[in-house]
Amino acid sequence: MRKPLIGISACLLGDAVRHDGGHKHYRYVTGELAQFFEFRPFCPEVASGLGVPRPALRLNMRDGAVRLQESQNPRHDHTQRLKRTALEACDTLGELSGYILKKDSPSCGMERVRVYSGSGMPEKNGRGLFAAQLLETFPQLPVEEEGRLSDLALRESFIERVFVYSRWQGLLREGLTPAGLMQFHARHKFSLLSRDESVYRELGPMVAGVCKTNLDSVAEAYIENLMQALKRPASRKRHCNVLMHLMGYFKTELSAEEKRELLQILEEYRLGMVPLVVPITLLKHYLRRLPNPYLLGQTYLDPYPREMRLRNAI
Ligand code: SF4
Repeated sequence: MRKPLIGISACLLGDAVRHDGGHKHYRYVTGELAQFFEFRPFCPEVASGLGVPRPALRLNMRDGAVRLQESQNPRHDHTQRLKRTALEACDTLGELSGYILKKDSPSCGMERVRVYSGSGMPEKNGRGLFAAQLLETFPQLPVEEEGRLSDLALRESFIERVFVYSRWQGLLREGLTPAGLMQFHARHKFSLLSRDESVYRELGPMVAGVCKTNLDSVAEAYIENLMQALKRPASRKRHCNVLMHLMGYFKTELSAEEKRELLQILEEYRLGMVPLVVPITLLKHYLRRLPNPYLLGQTYLDPYPREMRLRNAI
């Protein structure tokens, strides 16, 4: 299976593209994630023709509009050139399965970027111009900032979403059919239940009503809703509900002792005494002994390569 392709702010990969000629190498990306993903680095400021080094830029509020201007010389305004570059770049990013952006940047920052008003006091409520175009063009694309990836729950959620979206793109490449869409939805049942049961219930009838004539419109609405619902990391409580649900599939086959042990582990997980990998591993152990094709196809049990060890930390 080919590695999912992730777009990334070039400075995070260690490329010396920052205004001062430096970089912001993020070692988690090159050390860990590079084993599982391909990266496509992009620096919107360099791509727009601003060289290295270049004057530092910032977002300024001028006449009710956010402008990208040089910090020391605001008469030098690069808003249009950056917006044009972002638009052109987004035309070529369709095959990406995710994006990692540099936080706080007036071009790449996804949220809480400083916007300076006339008085010079910044408010942290802006979004970099490239990030804004990226999010508008690809609302379903998993996007995170490197700062937020140090939160282990957000990290796990982002990686899971990248793999969901990559599977979706694979399905489109093979040629989507009504049966393929239904099967995709069925495989993601427990992943979705771990986030938002109501969305799972809404998407069921949508998928059940799919046919060749409405396939494209249903598929578009489906993936947008699915990716939106998966954005929220699953809580411990939701995971517990899903795990109980999964346990229900074995209830007639497990011995009283095995059930007691499983319930004990679930309780320890609920109380935060063991990480998620512990009950999942036990469930998978029973699944190997008592194979159930429906459960074996569930992405919830193997959302990404085990070697990523993300469930050891949540
Ligand atoms: Fe990094 Fe983006 Fe700034 Fe380029 S524009 S240096 S990629 S944060």
